[in-house]
Amino acid sequence: MDDCIFCKIAAGAIPASILYDDGAVLAFRDINPEAPVHVLLIPHRHIATLNDLEAADAALIGQLFLVARRVAAELGVAESGYRTVINCNRDAGQLVFHVHMHLLAGRELGWPPG
Ligand code: AMP
Repeated sequence: MDDCIFCKIAAGAIPASILYDDGAVLAFRDINPEAPVHVLLIPHRHIATLNDLEAADAALIGQLFLVARRVAAELGVAESGYRTVINCNRDAGQLVFHVHMHLLAGRELGWPPG
């Protein structure tokens, strides 16, 4: 998608602080962190929202969680704890329409979210 900022990051066309990339899933630091650790995990392939997932994407979405686990361990927050969030559409506050998982950690996170 030509106008998708996360597609551009996945293509290396704009810079990001990349932590992990296996060609299917990419992890990079959020540009506007909401916690001491705030990482975004995306599929390389453009999928706009969770609503657009298909059964064939099951392994890809599973890989997002496995990469989240790996990044959390590498950043030293696996034991203290972390939260994964995928916002879908307006009421959830989705601003970038390329599926992304937030990994948040490094402080006590409030619940429920705002
Ligand atoms: P969401 O509201 O779930 O769509 O989250 C979008 C996230 O993308 C926000 O936390 C932004 O700070 C983050 N973001 C937007 N542009 C960039 C960028 N160029 N690099 C890293 N993170 C970004």
